[in-house]
Amino acid sequence: MRILGIETSCDETGVALYDSERGLLADALFSQIDLHRIYGGVVPELASRDHVKRLVPLMREVFTRAGVAEGDVDGVAYTAGPGLVGALLVGAACAKALAFAWGVPALGVHHMEGHLLAPMLEENPPEFPFVALLVSGGHTQLVRVDGIGRYQLLGESLDDAAGEAFDKTAKLMGLPYPGGPEIARLAQTGEPGRFVFPRPMTDRPGLDFSFSGLKTSVLNAWQQAGGSDVDSQTRCDIALGFEHAVVETLTIKCRRALKSTGLKRLVIAGGVSANRRLRESLGRMAHGLNGELFYARPEFCTDNGAMIAYAGCQRLQAGQRDSAGIEARARWPMEQLPAIDQADS
Ligand code: ATP
Ligand code: MG
Ligand code: FE
Repeated sequence: MRILGIETSCDETGVALYDSERGLLADALFSQIDLHRIYGGVVPELASRDHVKRLVPLMREVFTRAGVAEGDVDGVAYTAGPGLVGALLVGAACAKALAFAWGVPALGVHHMEGHLLAPMLEENPPEFPFVALLVSGGHTQLVRVDGIGRYQLLGESLDDAAGEAFDKTAKLMGLPYPGGPEIARLAQTGEPGRFVFPRPMTDRPGLDFSFSGLKTSVLNAWQQAGGSDVDSQTRCDIALGFEHAVVETLTIKCRRALKSTGLKRLVIAGGVSANRRLRESLGRMAHGLNGELFYARPEFCTDNGAMIAYAGCQRLQAGQRDSAGIEARARWPMEQLPAIDQADS
């Protein structure tokens, strides 16, 4: 089964072709980062308009690169939520129109399920069951995954998502959007131990997170060090202190999740899972428990069409279809998704 996947939930237009027999055939991405940078974050209306502009050219590009005739697919998968409604509607309307014209089914995919399954596109994919840490711009969740659509939420952030914490902290330090990669870059030359920030909610039981207080701690340190006048080494030291705090907090909670579920496999997904220090720390921790860590290549950690094509393919293969209407949901708990039989997938 060959599926066209379309991602437009936020500020990336992603298109890909996935084949259940041959794997990923082609994928293309246009990131709107430069468009939104001067505003310090994503402007929803600008995002929607730009998706309109990019979708068709990107789609043509993937068909050409895959050597597949335009429309020679068995279905079209698109991100139906959660995300910016205007942006989602662009992808949904485009996917529905194409599917109708080509006489194939369309299916709305959950964006976070897309992230969660992205590591399946790699060479050594994780087997079910596993614990997943979803760490992106809008979500920080620990999920027990027993199969596609068999999700049990173990814990989540009570306030800011991990990626949001990176972005907001970067902003207060005068760094451009998105902040995650910027902080990671500065942290490389930071001096360890000069700034130590709290590891929120690690001193009490449970698997929930809270990252908004951490940002305030950084703000205080930043202002005490002189604010926008800080020297470049101090900037790097603060970035490292912040990154350490996030990485260690996530590592402590993931360790707890593995121990409490008794599972050995840990999967990380979403933009923050591209973070090198996080991968190293979780890899060491999982190894120490005789477990294993799985993640996607960096470009499939952040938003992309490949993960949507893959997730859509699994569900379309299991016989799932959209209703006639156009689906776009700003909010959509992942636990509401229907399970599919492992035998079907
Ligand atoms: P969601 O998936 O929750 O709807 P989103 O789609 O905006 O949110 P992603 O595209 O998965 O999020 O990831 C973007 C986030 O990942 C941003 O917050 C960005 O700062 C963060 N990020 C990207 N690379 C890194 C990195 N190397 N280190 C830390 N954070 C990173
Ligand atoms: Mg993005
Ligand atoms: Fe995302």
